[in-house]
Amino acid sequence: MSRVLVIGAGGVSTVAVKKMAMNADVFTDIMIATRTKSKADKIAQGYSNIQTAQVDADNVKELVALFESYKPELVVNLALPYQDLSIMDACLEYGVSYLDTANYEPLDEAKYQYSWQWAYKDKFEKAGLTAILGCGFDPGVTGVFTAYAAKHHFDTLEYLDIVDCNAGDHHKAFATNFNPEINIREITQRGKYWENGEWKETDPLSVHQPLNYPNVGPKESYLMYHEELESLVKNYPTLKRARFWMTFGQEYLTHLRVIQNIGMDRIDPILYNGVEIVPIQFLKAVLPDPGNLGENYTGETSIGCRIRGQKDGKELTYYVYNNCSHEAAYKETGAQAVSYTTGVPAMIGSKLFLEGVWRKPGVWNVEEFDPDPFMAQLNVQGLPWHELFNVDLEL
Ligand code: NDP
Repeated sequence: MSRVLVIGAGGVSTVAVKKMAMNADVFTDIMIATRTKSKADKIAQGYSNIQTAQVDADNVKELVALFESYKPELVVNLALPYQDLSIMDACLEYGVSYLDTANYEPLDEAKYQYSWQWAYKDKFEKAGLTAILGCGFDPGVTGVFTAYAAKHHFDTLEYLDIVDCNAGDHHKAFATNFNPEINIREITQRGKYWENGEWKETDPLSVHQPLNYPNVGPKESYLMYHEELESLVKNYPTLKRARFWMTFGQEYLTHLRVIQNIGMDRIDPILYNGVEIVPIQFLKAVLPDPGNLGENYTGETSIGCRIRGQKDGKELTYYVYNNCSHEAAYKETGAQAVSYTTGVPAMIGSKLFLEGVWRKPGVWNVEEFDPDPFMAQLNVQGLPWHELFNVDLEL
């Protein structure tokens, strides 16, 4: 018997809940609570063990009341990063463990970092509750891949490059693969990477080079900051350099430039016809819903870690990755591969928590747990991974 409460009913939630329902021996009862209840009802359609509710996840009191009525054993936060702290506060007040896929970001500042959530470590520890942070693909599987490499293949990790390629085509002029507001805020910020004990900054998307992705071929890849770098350089202090690369097509970058040039990426409120609106939130309302991109999506994603380090006094290069087909993801869950590659790990982390395998009081990033059971689950839950040794990492 386990009761899980999932907050949010977007693309990632759709996949995570469907995969939870496929693992009904562990997930016996599920509730989806979100701002727009009809979206949760749509996901729950046809499942007798899934209930739905309306909740404002910015409101701690409302959340606690909901937890008191449903009595979950785990709260899975698949809403937006803005809600992380209110949901963690509510978890502490009621006394329930927590899992999310993205770190906290204040609404009025595009600045995401773990410090706000790490500050809850003592409180979760004292309450005997577990908080698992960043359990999607990146962050998430990329941290588990790194932990697996450190545990099984290397004596010391020295160079880490996380490479994220979406070689898919959704046949829309412009769309983002997950929440447009979060996505555009992330991509338009300054680049940042770790080198020789300090963070180095770059102009947004100014550093790029083609990289070869398995089964995909060469794709222009852009250096950008990504949140797992912060926890990985802390947890693997031997890393001399850690970077994150993501592919973008020219068409996407042109649209992004226009959006920036005309001010549609602004995150501050403006007055429109006497009503305050935030341009980027308005933009989200007119862009395609990432959760509905799946139907005509072709191609695949390829995300992995390219690592260089020492083993038995010799240099070793290692590339561990997963490729995920948009069509196969859609066939299985009705969502495209970016939602799929995030929702499946969120389900796996929840499963390992409920089974008592990934459970320890405190606030943790995924690489701080044993990677082996997670890696085994990836292979059986739809995200098989592959390893290459002593290959040219190109980086
Ligand atoms: P969506 O925008 O599709 O879904 C977000 C959901 O949260 C919506 O149902 C939304 O409600 C709900 N929500 C937003 N605000 C509130 C609130 N105040 N109270 C209650 N519900 C709320 O996002 P995605 O599914 O694409 O992404 C979900 C999360 O996953 C995000 O945090 C994203 O950053 C993260 N992510 C992580 C990745 C990883 O690899 N680690 C990759 C991709 C995404 P409504 O429908 O009413 O708007």
